[in-house]
Amino acid sequence: MSVLNQKTIKKKISFNGTGLHSGKKVIMTLFPAPPNSGIIFKRSDLQINNLIHPNVFNVSSASYCTKLTNEYGVSVSTVEHLMAALCGLGIDNLLVDLSSEELPIMDGSSKNFVDAIKDIGFNISDQPIRIIKIDKKITYKDGEKFISFEPNKISLEIDFEIKYKQNSILNQKNKKNIYMDNLTDIYNSRTFCLFEDVEKLKKMGLAQGGSLDNAIVVKGNEILNEEKLRNSNEFVNHKILDCLGDIYLAGYRMVGKITSSQGGHNVTNQGLRDLLSNNENYSIIELKEKNIPHSFLIKNTLKSSA
Ligand SMILES: [Zn+2]
Repeated sequence: MSVLNQKTIKKKISFNGTGLHSGKKVIMTLFPAPPNSGIIFKRSDLQINNLIHPNVFNVSSASYCTKLTNEYGVSVSTVEHLMAALCGLGIDNLLVDLSSEELPIMDGSSKNFVDAIKDIGFNISDQPIRIIKIDKKITYKDGEKFISFEPNKISLEIDFEIKYKQNSILNQKNKKNIYMDNLTDIYNSRTFCLFEDVEKLKKMGLAQGGSLDNAIVVKGNEILNEEKLRNSNEFVNHKILDCLGDIYLAGYRMVGKITSSQGGHNVTNQGLRDLLSNNENYSIIELKEKNIPHSFLIKNTLKSSA
């Protein structure tokens, strides 16, 4: 079966955890889904209007996490780390059943999701995958922050830069080719915040479930977590993870080059809205193996059997 055909997971997988911002306990169960269904969220704590189809235009809040709201006002939040895992692993179709409004934060990264999905394995359908190909360069700017989307041959590159005055973060920059590179450092990188922002976030009703078990906390030049850093670029690598999850809300995986400086959920979402609001900027194509360079197929075959 072709690696370019749509994938789902082999069997259901459950995660027990806590929402980072709500602090609520949640059970999340991932179920296999048929071809062409996409990723669907279901709030099983609600009886009606409980399905939410990810879309860049139903992002209702993108400060501190990405929240989706359907036309009935039903929401799911902090979808980005799961979406990044699904995008990186090439999961096209999945039902995400939730017992509460926010996904479990786990260890603050995508590690648990990626490990569990790899363990359970994939089901490959006979339907070809579709991708969004960027045809025109689009840049969104907000002061010093920006994101740009430009055409690229067959890969998805994310080039990200952050600038902080704290010595333990400072300026970090990294670039990943999502379909070719090993993404372990990206998946394993945890969310982070500054110690001085913790109180502010809690007062805003956010980070109620936050702790040193699910976020890196930076105080001055010090990292308060016992674990310290998992990789030397963990801060910017987490921003690449967030960006990957946020762009998968476009509905399909993407082919293009994405460059961002000091961006985040909101900048990525605004840029995606600009990109996808005009169909001259992109095309949706079905991938047929005969159109794809040999090297891409070899690498992806190796990746999917690893
Ligand atoms: Zn994040």
